[in-house]
Amino acid sequence: PRASPECSSSKVRVVARIRPFLPSEIHGSHGKLAPCVSFSADQSADTTLHIKDSTTSREGYYKVDSCYGEDDEISGIFSKEVEPLIPALFQGKNATVFAYGATGSGKTYTMQGSEIHPGLMPLAMSRILALSERNNFQVAVAYYEVYMDRCYDLLESKGMEISVLEGNDGKIQLRGLSQVLVKTLADFNDVFVNGCLRRRVGQTGLNNTSSRSHGVLMVTVASLNRNTIFGKLNLIDLAGNEDNRRTGNEGVRLAESARINQDLFTLSNVISALSSNESRVPYRDSKLTRILQDSLGGTSRAVMIVCLNPRSYQEAAHTLIIAARTRQI
Ligand code: ADP
Ligand code: MG
Repeated sequence: PRASPECSSSKVRVVARIRPFLPSEIHGSHGKLAPCVSFSADQSADTTLHIKDSTTSREGYYKVDSCYGEDDEISGIFSKEVEPLIPALFQGKNATVFAYGATGSGKTYTMQGSEIHPGLMPLAMSRILALSERNNFQVAVAYYEVYMDRCYDLLESKGMEISVLEGNDGKIQLRGLSQVLVKTLADFNDVFVNGCLRRRVGQTGLNNTSSRSHGVLMVTVASLNRNTIFGKLNLIDLAGNEDNRRTGNEGVRLAESARINQDLFTLSNVISALSSNESRVPYRDSKLTRILQDSLGGTSRAVMIVCLNPRSYQEAAHTLIIAARTRQI
């Protein structure tokens, strides 16, 4: 049996999702496609991921809290990994879910999804709306992106730069960010669809619509009975962690990539500082970690979903080394 999120000792739960081969990949393969990534769930709490390069025979083992393969549907991932974080929002706690991985590994598919395959963002929203109605809470959403260490609104004041400030209470304020009240899933979808379309896309050698920014959907709930209870859930589609030796990036693309890698490195530093109870947590080293300052650590819960492409050993190794650093210590 898989470990339940409650009994994980580390503050950040790290789970993996291996996407299936895509029809185009199967097509171009002439019948010899073997995944480089596999996993086995022990009877204990951990799951071990095994990656192996069939040409060089290099291999590696990584522990995660749980792993999902091509047969696991998003509804199961949602109910095991994300739904358990939601009730705490109504007690004024915060939570963060991020999808991490290389370009093309399934981050956007997992977080945003599509109309036919809704991702974790709309699934979480649906659950939050149901609980809000029952508990008499008001729900607001904001969607913004972090690009080259700056935050830009994706909703009403689109393209506006948002400033990140820290209040006296230690809470992070995003000045200029539009927050839209939503009552129904249809309300949400109206804003969400537009936000998704505005995500910055660029061209790289590996994927022609790769996301070069981190997309942050921030959902806040506020009690209508007691005006002191606020909870916040951040759902983040992180930019791809590219290995620049492989993308052949130059110029602007290289600068973007360097920034992305810096952000992801800082994120893992923050998480490992938190899990080893270090006194200095380097939130200020990047905008991405700054905006998460009140949603990582403390009473907040976080889940990192490590997305893996079954085709690439090197990519999986690159991703899992950083993920492993995030999980243990
Ligand atoms: P990323 O955001 O990490 O760059 P995407 O989410 O865009 O990657 O996924 C890359 C491609 O793989 C897309 O065509 C997407 O539809 C497909 N894909 C990703 N995950 C899955 C999955 N679990 N099942 C089916 N197709 C998937
Ligand atoms: Mg993407």
